[in-house]
Amino acid sequence: MSGAGGRRPIVAANWKMHHLAADAEAFCRRLAAGLPEHGAAEPEVVVFPSFPLLTAVAAGLAGSGATVGGQDLHPEDAGAHTGDVSGAQLADAGCAWALAGHSERRRDHGEGDELVAAKVRAARRHGLAPMVCVGETAGERRAGRTHDVLDRQLAAALAALEGLAPAAWALAYEPVWAIGTGDTATPETAAEAHAHLRRRIADARGDGDAAAVRILYGGSVKPANAAELAPREGIDGFLVGGASLDAGDFLAIISAWP
Ligand code: PEP
Repeated sequence: MSGAGGRRPIVAANWKMHHLAADAEAFCRRLAAGLPEHGAAEPEVVVFPSFPLLTAVAAGLAGSGATVGGQDLHPEDAGAHTGDVSGAQLADAGCAWALAGHSERRRDHGEGDELVAAKVRAARRHGLAPMVCVGETAGERRAGRTHDVLDRQLAAALAALEGLAPAAWALAYEPVWAIGTGDTATPETAAEAHAHLRRRIADARGDGDAAAVRILYGGSVKPANAAELAPREGIDGFLVGGASLDAGDFLAIISAWP
């Protein structure tokens, strides 16, 4: 099953700083058992646990069709960076994906567009597919600056994604005002932002790449609202925070793509 433009949807779980080993094991058992009922490996399913859980989650999901990713990575491959994790270590732990530019990293750690781009380059050096998060704050939207913010964040990421096949990376449109607030973007608001981002990708990369790249929506996606967002033109999956902690809820969101 493919979304619009032949794009295979991605439904990704961002656990943030949640779950202990026993929770992760139980989640993996439930997800691995539930995925075949929801159409085996369609859509593509990715779980982003916190670093200490990566190896266990990679092992727990082995053979399920779901893959694992790191929530962040350092721009360098190794070195004296206490508390950081490298792309090499993520790949070694079994990751296929790496998040870059999540708004909580931008907010909590002051990460700017250049650092996010350096992280994208680091992910590429280790064969990790970058999932780059972009999105405006409530104040930026109120000020009519949504497109400017998206353009700036996207341009920096695209420079680091130069030459990478569109199937090997993804963009997540995550309006900051919708993350963890319950204030989900309406399907119209999300679809408008996705269309804008895809136009900009077409300007930079051409229509072929723009038609092939997956753009996920993130921001208070729940089982109750997934079904109205999923069929929207240009929405190619979800990055799910809070509702991804429960395997049953996550499976219900996956099943929004029939
Ligand atoms: C996220 O962490 O990327 C996210 C979208 O969180 P939530 O689903 O909880 O809003």
